Amino acid sequence: MDAISYERAIDVAGAVRAAQQPGAVYIGGGTNLLDLMKGGVARPLRLIDITHIDGLDSVSALPDGGLRIGALVRNSDAANHARVREQYPLLSQALLAGASAQLRNMATVGGNLLQRTRCGYFYDTAFSHCNKRAPGSGCAALDGHNRMHAILGASPQCIAVNPSDMSVALAALDALVRVSGPGGERTIAFGEFHRLPGERPDVDTTLQPGELITAVDLPPPLFSAHSHYLKVRDRASYAFALVSVAAALQMDGERVQSARIALGGVAHKPWRANAAEQMLAGQPLTDATLKNAAAAALSGAQPRRENGFKVQLAQRAIVRAVKLAAGQSGGVA
Ligand SMILES: Cc1cc2nc3c(=O)[nH]c(=O)nc-3n(C[C@H](O)[C@H](O)[C@H](O)COP(=O)(O)OP(=O)(O)OC[C@H]3O[C@@H](n4cnc5c(N)ncnc54)[C@H](O)[C@@H]3O)c2cc1C
Repeated sequence: MDAISYERAIDVAGAVRAAQQPGAVYIGGGTNLLDLMKGGVARPLRLIDITHIDGLDSVSALPDGGLRIGALVRNSDAANHARVREQYPLLSQALLAGASAQLRNMATVGGNLLQRTRCGYFYDTAFSHCNKRAPGSGCAALDGHNRMHAILGASPQCIAVNPSDMSVALAALDALVRVSGPGGERTIAFGEFHRLPGERPDVDTTLQPGELITAVDLPPPLFSAHSHYLKVRDRASYAFALVSVAAALQMDGERVQSARIALGGVAHKPWRANAAEQMLAGQPLTDATLKNAAAAALSGAQPRRENGFKVQLAQRAIVRAVKLAAGQSGGVA
């Protein structure tokens, strides 16, 4: 049995200082970290409990009209906050599509951003080949069971996907992640926060060692009237996405003024469908335009043996999510 020390931080500076000790990790709700520890995937020496830090558990208005959600706000509180529901319904829907009520009551916004992949080979230490868990050991998923795995942006080192629903909505909303670390405070654009696997699949994000997420900032709400989060999964609840789509539109009558589309369940990070967004901007929302945009979003897909179905599924999910965001019925084109 490993000996683990526990420390309770009461402010950001203290937490950051404590995290500089060897083998230290932050713990929020613990709903992912403790599972990883129980399975022997994560072996920290020190847990720095951040849940008692003052000031990180609230939602507050920003001077530009946006919203700041503290890193310790529980997923259920974020999803049910009046301003989130009214002005960022996409985020509320994505949060409520994740996990279960009990888990959402524990899980924090910061922890949700850093939850690790659900690749079975990563979780099962009986498999020796996992570059994400043991760099340089190989990737058992490449030719193994890869039904849930990436079809976009993967590398020969890793085809795992990011499992967070909340992050897909935050990608579409162009959120900012605020962090504090040994080098001071900084802000990371959401698109730069999670990484593609490349040669270093063990590194999920661009956070520096010891950096603490303190908040997520949402820009002023542009999409509250026209957005939709669609999650396609094997079971109606308590299951990770096969494919998910966060669609956010600004509409001018029947014409799309601007579109934001992010995909979950298809890549190592929430995947912005930039080509599709550009093809929709300025166009009337017809079935043909939408179908072409969805095809463009998946044009670079590289499925593996068991997950070819995701290419078609993702296109259909884009069509449906965008139609529902626009207030049309979500029938598949
Ligand atoms: C059965 C089950 C089903 C689930 N289904 C879904 C689902 O469908 N969709 C979905 O999106 N999620 C799902 N989840 C995952 C769940 O959303 C995450 O476990 C949760 O969001 C993690 O938050 P936490 O606060 O508990 O993080 P923790 O477990 O406390 O931490 C996770 C990681 O983040 C780090 N960390 C935590 N807070 C900070 C911070 N502020 N700054 C820096 N580092 C930090 C920790 O060191 C750790 O590495 C599921 C989980 C379970 C167990």
